[in-house]
Amino acid sequence: MEAATHYSEIKVNIEQKLNEMNWTGVGRAAPETGRSYTADDIDRASELRDKEVANLVTCHTKRSCDSLLAALERLAEGSYGLCSECGDQINMNRLLAHPTSLYCVPCQSKKEKAAKRLS
Ligand SMILES: [Zn+2]
Repeated sequence: MEAATHYSEIKVNIEQKLNEMNWTGVGRAAPETGRSYTADDIDRASELRDKEVANLVTCHTKRSCDSLLAALERLAEGSYGLCSECGDQINMNRLLAHPTSLYCVPCQSKKEKAAKRLS
């Protein structure tokens, strides 16, 4: 299957997670705009995130929302699926299981080992 097909699957997956986290409820936190925000809005413009969405995401799920939104942004700008550490393509099965993954498996395990050494 084409990577692009997987990416649209992942996108739907992420948007579902945002909905599960009461994303529309978060949108209601800004009544002055008279509308709520959907994941599609995030898709359209990244400046939306800076100006408006950042203010909206004040719930206790902010961290989870942030990583999901960041993943959507990476999907929109085409950098999704590349390891933040080494720039390699992240394994597709890993992305499907963990859509917000930032690192490939080797880099992730390196980081986990380093974290263990510190603790
Ligand atoms: Zn890597």
